[in-house]
Amino acid sequence: MSSLSLFVLLIGPFMGSFVSASAKSWPEWRQVLQARSRCGHCETKLTIIDLVPVFSYLMLRGQCRTCKAPIGRVHFIVELLAITIAISAVWAFDGWMELATALLGWTLLFASLVDFRLRLLPNGSSFALILAGGIMAFTHGQWDELGMSVLGASIGYVVFFGISKLYLALRGREGLGRGDAKLLAAGGAWTGPFALSWIVLIASLLALLGLVANRKKGEALKADTALAFGPALAASIYLVWLGTNLPALMGRG
Ligand SMILES: [Zn+2]
Repeated sequence: MSSLSLFVLLIGPFMGSFVSASAKSWPEWRQVLQARSRCGHCETKLTIIDLVPVFSYLMLRGQCRTCKAPIGRVHFIVELLAITIAISAVWAFDGWMELATALLGWTLLFASLVDFRLRLLPNGSSFALILAGGIMAFTHGQWDELGMSVLGASIGYVVFFGISKLYLALRGREGLGRGDAKLLAAGGAWTGPFALSWIVLIASLLALLGLVANRKKGEALKADTALAFGPALAASIYLVWLGTNLPALMGRG
């Protein structure tokens, strides 16, 4: 295993902690560092033992050491997801693409969490991903691939923006946000235009699964049940990006 792979795997859990804390306090970045410095219940200052990703949660059985108040399970799940992203990135790619892929995954995870909390996707992360996708394409295949990246981003934005306008006209209310369009543009910037239909298809299936799961939990499924499309779209972009390297993986195996 290369030292870069090891680095990606090692920072995975810490990125999970960071992503969770920053998504919780976004857009107040100054709170990020303070967010996890005290127990939210008894205000006891947390020490390094309380803040080790994954291990602290398991060791303390999800409770504050002082007052036994439950520690957020979401935080723990986000740490596990961040580790899964690191492992999949190292598995699917080689060299510095491992790091780039992991950063893509962690950024998408951040955007998903903000969307869960506030029902909006931050512009900053989508724009950063569009830019990163363009740079990735250019370093990989110069102007030809940069062209495909720009095409992917543009088509992604226009198509999604069109769908949301159509939805608004037909149903008389917002169904899909502009944030979703910008995120799909980011997906297109990474995968190029040909994978966009896959991204939309898989995202729709994931969103549908999410609705069914919510219904099982007892939430009645109504026509105006808000569709949390952002997280489904983010997961789909990451999966399709991994998939673009499947042919190379097959050849290697
Ligand atoms: Zn406490």
